[in-house]
Amino acid sequence: MFHTAIAGSLPKPAWLAETGKLWPKWQAEGEALARAKADATLLWIKLQEDAGLDVIGDGEQSRQHFVHGFLEQVEGIDFLHKVEMGIRNDRYKAMVPQVVAPLRLKGRVHATEARLLRAHTQHQIKFTLPGPMTIVDTVADRHYGDRVAMAFAFAELLNQEALALQADGVDIIQFDEPAFNVYMADAADWGVKALERAAQGLSCKTAVHICYGYGISANIDWKKTLGDQWRQYEQVFPALAASRIDQVSLECIHSQVPAELMALLAGKDVMVGVIDVASDEVETPEEVADTIGRALQFVPRQRLIACTNCGLAPMQRGVAEAKLRALAEGAALARQRFGA
Ligand code: ZN
Repeated sequence: MFHTAIAGSLPKPAWLAETGKLWPKWQAEGEALARAKADATLLWIKLQEDAGLDVIGDGEQSRQHFVHGFLEQVEGIDFLHKVEMGIRNDRYKAMVPQVVAPLRLKGRVHATEARLLRAHTQHQIKFTLPGPMTIVDTVADRHYGDRVAMAFAFAELLNQEALALQADGVDIIQFDEPAFNVYMADAADWGVKALERAAQGLSCKTAVHICYGYGISANIDWKKTLGDQWRQYEQVFPALAASRIDQVSLECIHSQVPAELMALLAGKDVMVGVIDVASDEVETPEEVADTIGRALQFVPRQRLIACTNCGLAPMQRGVAEAKLRALAEGAALARQRFGA
């Protein structure tokens, strides 16, 4: 009961990449970079286990960014000529690569780190991939001319990689879809269908992470405009409840998301965000247990997984480590309080 997991990313050590950035530069190249990525992955496996987490991830140490890490292995994308694009409905600008030809995988994307993760922990392992709608919102289209067609093209590639990750021994494959919280009508209309295409044929657990973004200032400013009730999930959760996706990850602590919206996810495992990624203040175990208690009004005990609100990538490493411990200690406290 109350298993613990992170949403996905963790800070990269200073010897691997620039710290405190969403698109950090690597500190090495070639063989040295490959070695550094593997070392950082091993480090975070150990630190997650030491913190007491149940589900272990690779902390996304091998990818520069959660979307572009996947795109780097896709043929038909021009990475040499990036263009500036407003993303998440123009919330912020990013330099993005361009789709210029039909899309095809060049080969495996995440085999190295998934196999490394499988070989070095006995715990359940979760692996994250960007969702089709979020990819479409983080790349410039010079070829398809149609967001839905391009999303389904990406969904096919994601599916190939997801099936291979399952064969590598991954227990849970999670697709990250922050764009669902921005284009809610499209998400309910075709976003969830594209997601199901990406998850087609998987027999391992499948998950989707929907958040209000990393703790960067553009996102913090955006949240201030959303009023005192954030009801974005209300439009998307019914479509997800009717889908074949097993688990849904959402923001909870320090958000204005009404807790009752979790009731829309009947039949799903709910990864409740009990750790804030937009603040360096470390939660106490009591706060974490209190948040779990609030969610329990709307989520059955056996379906609640305690999670972070989003990835921890841009944080300081020490803060992230402390937050992992708070997550595990808070879930343990909740087991005592609500376990009977
Ligand atoms: Zn997130």
